[in-house]
Amino acid sequence: MARPRFKRILLKLSGEAAMGDQDFGIEPETVARVASEVKAAKDAGYELCLVIGGGNIFRGMAGAAKGMDRATADYMGMLATVMNALAMQDALEHLGVETRVQSAIPMASVCEPYIRRRAERHLEKGRVVIFAAGTGSPYFTTDSGAALRAAEMKCDALFKGTSVDGVYDADPKKVPTARRYETLDFKRVLSDDLKVMDASAVALCRDNNIPIVVFSIREKGNLAKVLAGEGVSTIVQNEEQS
Ligand code: UDP
Repeated sequence: MARPRFKRILLKLSGEAAMGDQDFGIEPETVARVASEVKAAKDAGYELCLVIGGGNIFRGMAGAAKGMDRATADYMGMLATVMNALAMQDALEHLGVETRVQSAIPMASVCEPYIRRRAERHLEKGRVVIFAAGTGSPYFTTDSGAALRAAEMKCDALFKGTSVDGVYDADPKKVPTARRYETLDFKRVLSDDLKVMDASAVALCRDNNIPIVVFSIREKGNLAKVLAGEGVSTIVQNEEQS
């Protein structure tokens, strides 16, 4: 199947992508490496939106499990995503890539608030827009934030960079015979509860016909390859699109 041509994409990375070999936090060299992947994609002519999770710093569920109020813990998680967004902005600007961070929770002295029309203008001017603070609401994840922004910004696809090179029928780290899917239907992902993104994010992409491309961000040069339809990945889309 020929892969559709994408122009504007949203790249979703989990906070772990900023962590490197550490157990926690931000490793500047790792962020710099990921930033060079983003630059390569930018240089290839794509319009790029970025969403980075916060799991390397704080996850609301973990706080709630230890007795914190869930909403309070989730707000802390959203603040963690702002830190990651600023780290990525810094790394990208070191490489000469113009960026703007827009936060769903306004914090005027740190970054811009999320304003869709302004984000559109940044993209038109060739800037990479990093959307921080997820949806701005607790009880969501940055996967849902990424799907929401992808829909609002009319992205052609959502690229989910993970530590695995696609979606498998079993955990490839545990089952040596696990098989990677080349393509998958949204319905199947939801009915079989396949681990792509959380269900609300998958449903939002399904309803708005936004394909999800799952690929490994760990492999050097992979983002540009996958964007060109060459690298290893799994594409999730509505059946009639394939
Ligand atoms: N979060 C939230 N609402 C959102 C996005 C994120 O409450 O719209 C909180 C939530 O607590 C989550 C944390 O921010 O655990 C970090 O985001 P996520 O777990 O999605 O990060 P990732 O797993 O991608 O690193």
